[in-house]
This record gives sequence, structure tokens and C-alpha cells, in this order.
Amino acid sequence: MQELTHYINGEHVKGTSGRFADVYNPATGEVQAKVPLASAAEMDIAVQAASAAQPKWAATNPQRRARVMMKFVALLNDNMDRLSEALSREHGKTLPDAAGDVQRGLEVVEYCVGAPELLKGDFTDSAGPGIDMYSMRQALGVCAGVTPFNFPAMIPMWMFAPAIACGNAFILKPSERDPSVPLMLAELMEQAGLPKGILQVVNGDKEAVDAIIDHDVIQSIGFVGSTPIAEYIYGRGCANGKRVQCFGGAKNHMIIMPDADLDQAADALIGAGYGAAGERCMAISVAVPVGKDTADKLIEKLIPRIESLKVGPYTAGSDADYGPVVTAAAKANILRLVETGVDQGAELVVDGRDFNLQGYEDGFFVGPHLFDHATKDMDIYTKEIFGPVLVCVRAETYEEALGLAMDHEYGNGTAIYTRDGDTARDFAHRINIGMVGINVPIPVPLAYHTFGGWKKSAFGDLNQHGPDAFKFYTRTKTITSRWPSGIRQGGEFDFKAMD
Ligand code: NAD
Repeated sequence: MQELTHYINGEHVKGTSGRFADVYNPATGEVQAKVPLASAAEMDIAVQAASAAQPKWAATNPQRRARVMMKFVALLNDNMDRLSEALSREHGKTLPDAAGDVQRGLEVVEYCVGAPELLKGDFTDSAGPGIDMYSMRQALGVCAGVTPFNFPAMIPMWMFAPAIACGNAFILKPSERDPSVPLMLAELMEQAGLPKGILQVVNGDKEAVDAIIDHDVIQSIGFVGSTPIAEYIYGRGCANGKRVQCFGGAKNHMIIMPDADLDQAADALIGAGYGAAGERCMAISVAVPVGKDTADKLIEKLIPRIESLKVGPYTAGSDADYGPVVTAAAKANILRLVETGVDQGAELVVDGRDFNLQGYEDGFFVGPHLFDHATKDMDIYTKEIFGPVLVCVRAETYEEALGLAMDHEYGNGTAIYTRDGDTARDFAHRINIGMVGINVPIPVPLAYHTFGGWKKSAFGDLNQHGPDAFKFYTRTKTITSRWPSGIRQGGEFDFKAMD
């Protein structure tokens, strides 16, 4: 049995807490490795190493720091197959989807190559007589990030690349379900020229996360995961005086207007609802067709598409549309929620409950499901299922459809399918959701824009990547300077205007 490690101060280090978690191959159901779960004492070793290394890194000129990012991008491309394979083996997603996971992280690293421009600061010449004023963005010090299982390459890179480009040291606590790729990323960053101690990976569970939250030296925490944990970390992290941003769960609605191209909308729903087995925070999990005729036609188009979905292990390459879910517990939770849908009266028009993949009977595969006539009080509508289950809630009018999405507690992403510009524009303006697609089912912003939801999908003021990341990972300092020739004699007792 492979025993994974932490990556502390440039070395792979065995866990010493005596606690481990099993890492599965979700396609076969076998335990393929065990990952150490760090104690607070192990976390402290990483924090001390980060703290010792960070000042020199912060003093390195930003262009040299950016060169590490450039080299890292090249190494990611060189290692794309190896990273994708390791990612699929632990997560279960298909190989092309795993390459996409690495790619969307890589794009944020590319953006961080522009750090010198983003960190330049502001200068006002002659703000007063002989007085200049300038603002600089300085690194926070030691930062930490806690990441979810569903994007084990992309989300760590969204955090550590801007943090490190800004001159911080970063401690990553990845998901204990798929920790191998984060460890590989730390190795590649050092191959790219990053000094030891600037990026470390400390594996663990709640104990390691609590050690981050309570550590005096750690200045900021980035979190992505489920909403209850996001709320917990945000509350306790802020109470401890840290800068915290936490991104939580989702229930993304797609509204399908009567004038939409229904074949396009159905194709979009298949990819956005069932891709990655529905384990995406930007997956569409609710379809809201407007009007009975739209709903009937949409369901008719969806059923054959869903029934012909190919579910398989990642080794099937692009012959599988989606793979297994991450653990047996995740599978059990999805199937439990499906039962509540049936019990509460929704119509299960595609029933994946008896799905079985020959040769992979112990894998965590879940067949595709489609519910029609769900209502807003049902658990399958209120709760995040995070599986290959699409829930159709019919609406009579556009206003009713809009109201559904607006009243839901989550506000990560949403989409509208229509040919009418006025409707699309109205939707984009009024909806209280952070990321909006117009005839685009998964509107994930590119690296140079920012990513973040509203309502219970995000806690904190700034989004991930884009310019917000450079604000989150720096503090502003403003200097007012005057040299002796500009200084008048005698004390000054009033609050000066810069005349
Ligand atoms: P999770 O909340 O179970 O775990 C996320 C991280 O928190 C992991 O590193 C885990 O070790 C840690 N953690 C778990 N329990 C904890 C506890 N009690 N105290 C402290 N830390 C704890 O989430 P997951 O199952 O790994 O990921 C799926 C969730 O993430 C879904 O809800 C999904 O919507 C969400 N997600 C959100 C976004 C976004 O940008 N909004 C992106 C991806 C995933």
C-alpha cells in the first residue's frame, strides 16, 4: 500500500500523527494509498519553514518571481498526461476532463506571469508642496488554502499562484480524497525555481484545518468546499483576525425560454448536468423550462440523450462521458437524495438507480437520473446533490422562473437559453447570482476575470483569481513623503490640507 507524504520545506515528509485516511480508486472501489492526516504540531513545522523563507521571497523582484510562474507553465504542459492520469485515478473524472482541470489552473498561473504589472502601485507627484504620495501592495506573509476534492489541480493553483506571485509563502491543505496531484504541483513549482518553504502541502482533515485557523502566523485563509464548512472557517477565521475568503456549494439553474433552440439547450444540459458526474460547483442541477410546451418538448429531447450517456472508468479515455463519483459515501448520499425525490412526489423519468457497470461492480458509479415535476419544497431541489441528477422544475412564466433562481439560497452560477436579447439582458441585470451564462451553460470566468458566487455560495468580499486575487493576497501601504527642502520651520498643530 502506497503511503503518501506531506511536502514540507522542499522534502517529502512522512506523517507522524499516526492518523491516515484511505485514498480510493473510485473506478474499482479499491484503496490505492493512504494519506497522512497532520497534527497541529506538523502544521506548525510547515508554518515555521514558510515564515523563515518568505521575507527573502518577498524581497525578490516581482519579475524574477514571475519567471518561476513562466517555467511552471512549461512544466505543467510537459507533465500534462502524468498529472491527468494521477488526477483521474484518485478523483474518477475522465482523462480529457482531468486535463481540463489542470488547464484551467494553468491559465491562472499564466495570468500571474503579469504580476509585476498588477503589483505596480500608485504614485502622486506633488500631492502638496514638496510632498509625494505613493501606495504599494505588500505581501501578507504566510497564507494558507483549504481545497475540495472536485478540482484537485485547478483550485489549488487558483490560490497558490497569485499568493506566491505576490511574494507570500503558501501552505496548501488539499482534499484528503485526492492529494497526489497537489503534491506533484509542489514538486513542479520547485523544479521551476521556487525556493524551499514557499509552497508546502500539509495533508489532513479538520485537525489540520483548525491548526491553520488558529495559527497566529498565518495571515489569510482561502477555502473552497461545501457551505457548512465555508461558514465555519469564515466565522472562526475572521474572529481570529485573519483575512478569509470562502467559496461554498451551489444549485445552478438553467432557464429555458420558449424561444430557445431546444436542441442546443438539451445538449447543453447534458454536458453541464452530467459532465464530471455532476461533481462541479458550476454544474447545472436544475432545469427550469418556461411554459408547458417548452417543458414537454425539452423532456422529450433530454430522455434519449440521457439514456445514451456512456458511463465508464477513466481508462476508457474519451469513450466515457463521465466516470464514478469520488467515494462510496458520496454515492450513498446521491442515491438517498434520489429516494427522497421519489418519496416526495417528483416524477423520476430517467431512473439510474439500478445502474451497474460490468467488470466494475465495486466502483462508485452512479447512473444518470432525470426528475420532472419537482417543486421548490423538495429536498432534491433545496439541497446540493453533487451527482448525475438533473431536476426539472417547470415554470409558467419568465418571472416565476427568475424568482425560483433568485429565492434559492445558493447563488454560484446560472444560465438562460433564449434568442431574445431583451429577456437575456433583463436576466443578467436582475439575477442575484455571481456568474451568469447567456446561451452558455457553464459560465466559468477566464483567469483575468474573477470567479465567485453570491448568497450562500461565497463568504468574503473578494473573488478568486483575476485582479481580486492580487488584492486578497496583498496589503496596501500608503506613504506620504517630504524631503528637508520642503519642510517649514516650527511645529504644525492643525490637520493639514495638502495645499
Ligand atoms: P468539503 O467541504 O467536504 O471539503 C472541503 C475541504 O474542507 C477539504 O479540504 C476537507 O478536508 C475540509 N474539511 C472537511 N470537513 C471539515 C471540517 N469539519 N472542518 C474543517 N475542514 C473540513 O467539500 P468537498 O466535498 O471536498 O467538495 C465539494 C463541495 O465543494 C461542494 O459543495 C461544491 O459545490 C463545493 N465547491 C465549490 C466551489 C466554488 O467555487 N464555490 C468550487 C468547487 C467546489
